Amino acid sequence: MSYQPVKQLLQTPPGQTVTVKGWVRTKRESKNAVFVAINDGSTIHTIQAVAETGTLPDDTLRLITTGACVAITGELVESQGAGQAVEVKITDVTIYGPADPEKYPLQPKRHSLEFLREIAHLRPRTNTFSAILRIRHALAFAVHKYYNDNGFFYLNTPIITASDAEGAGEMFRVSTLDPMHPPKTEEGKIDYSQDFFGRETNLTVSGQLEGELGALALGKIYTFGPTFRAENSNTTRHLAEFWMIEPEMAFYELEDNMALAEDFVKSVIRYALDNCADDLAFLENRLAEEEKTKKKEEQQEMTLTQKLRFVIDNDFERLTYTEAVEILRNSKPAKKGQFQYEVSWGVDLQSEHERYLVEKHFKKPVILTNYPRAIKSFYMKQDNEPATNARGEVFGPTVRAMDVLFPGIGEIIGGSQREDDLDKLTARMAEVGIDPEAIWWYLDTRRFGTAPHAGFGLGFERLVLFVTGMSNIRDVIPFPRAPKSAEF
Ligand code: ATP
Ligand code: MN
Repeated sequence: MSYQPVKQLLQTPPGQTVTVKGWVRTKRESKNAVFVAINDGSTIHTIQAVAETGTLPDDTLRLITTGACVAITGELVESQGAGQAVEVKITDVTIYGPADPEKYPLQPKRHSLEFLREIAHLRPRTNTFSAILRIRHALAFAVHKYYNDNGFFYLNTPIITASDAEGAGEMFRVSTLDPMHPPKTEEGKIDYSQDFFGRETNLTVSGQLEGELGALALGKIYTFGPTFRAENSNTTRHLAEFWMIEPEMAFYELEDNMALAEDFVKSVIRYALDNCADDLAFLENRLAEEEKTKKKEEQQEMTLTQKLRFVIDNDFERLTYTEAVEILRNSKPAKKGQFQYEVSWGVDLQSEHERYLVEKHFKKPVILTNYPRAIKSFYMKQDNEPATNARGEVFGPTVRAMDVLFPGIGEIIGGSQREDDLDKLTARMAEVGIDPEAIWWYLDTRRFGTAPHAGFGLGFERLVLFVTGMSNIRDVIPFPRAPKSAEF
């Protein structure tokens, strides 16, 4: 096997014999020559291979069609045409795999993203999806690099878990029991003691609880793994299977947590800008074309790379939930009744509210903190003072939570300082009905050598969504899992 990736060939000086292996994007025939554009996935660009008319056997020429896989050998020469420095002067062609043009679903034209979702097995062969997948790779690498460079340890938390402390009702069950004839207890319930693990188990909704165990031993850890939520949310921002990055740090308080979150996302976005210029340029053009089809007032003011630069060049706005509610209640859309959901202190903010704060009010990423205790998870550190607004009104208890909100997306990161006081933690668990026995091991961290600590979760696909400028989360993961959709 000897060949050079197209990415490398395009930067190779002319004058040597090379072999390129890849998939035919287009074939064009003129009076004197046939031009074949080949892409091998190493770059968004194709390399052009040229043969003078009559030099290729007819049955070979016939099989060079869009989608066919070929190996082409020839001399790398200076290109006659515009757009590329070099091209391959064909001396030999091997057809690895023809692709019947009558049946091959990808034609050299623009297909809708909806159509491409139906052929997710082939869409990586398009410019758009190969660009997205290369950027996704670069971002994943940047995540590991960032944490490695900053003294964090990569901790693998379990995918199958027995704790349903977090997302009861939203989990996928893992079981080897016969669904037709499950063993029953005397009360007629399913007897999970006879199941594979001798208890009920599920796919994880978060690695956080185990992440905390790691942080309280290793200091700074992060997880980066698959995460599952059986919530039936058919939105453009939710998947049933997604990848989450969860750093967890001993001795970090809320402010440190925010500083880390901001530095981290800026760093990985910068990495993409520095390392994915070609793919970003392609997606930027694609987006600009798409914008042109929209009404003037709905068009985005910034190009894709401008938007990415803007995020890394500006400080994220930090404010409390209580302050945000004030802003939202006094906002134009609230007064004109344009929000679908009304805002008052205590409600969970909807994506429309988050996006108003980010896109209209502050016009930059926002970190909201100190949310009402009632709408956040039991493990978040309780604030000592109740919240008060500028007019001196006093509201219920809050916790040291933080959500990072991004334009076009809303929540991209959710995190908090954790409750490190055993009594406060168990009291809160009792209020929300979590059995301390079920997570005795988690509570042991508070029993033995507890410490202030904090962490957050970044939904990897939401990051990829932002960086690629795509609008549907199903288009930034190779094989999306969503309600009624698990074909590929
Ligand atoms: P949302 O309110 O948007 O549903 P959440 O508050 O339920 O999110 P968290 O439990 O805080 O989410 O999870 C941390 C991060 O994981 C979120 O900030 C988001 O980036 C990502 N995330 C959560 N649920 C999903 C999902 N179903 N698909 C993709 N990413 C998700
Ligand atoms: Mn959240």
